[in-house]
Amino acid sequence: MPIYEYTCESCSHTHDAMRTIASRDEPIECPECGSSECKRNITSALGAVDTTLTPDKATGGQFSQLMDKMKRSSTKDAHATLDRASSRNAGMWGNN
Ligand SMILES: [Zn+2]
Repeated sequence: MPIYEYTCESCSHTHDAMRTIASRDEPIECPECGSSECKRNITSALGAVDTTLTPDKATGGQFSQLMDKMKRSSTKDAHATLDRASSRNAGMWGNN
């Protein structure tokens, strides 16, 4: 039997339940508050995760742009750190 996840409409509590496919959408009681207003969480049914969905597809390409931006800025930061480090070393050597 597949495991479905339900979210309670009254208290937002989520719980898993093993149910047949035929009865998956029948009212189920919330173990937290006893309400039967629980909606099946479709995204987590059967642990079905869409592995073909990359962050890029989800954001329409913005993820790659963000990563590029981060790469560029971190490289610049690294260079600045290197510059500081080498000038510090130079000063150390100079004092010696
Ligand atoms: Zn509840």
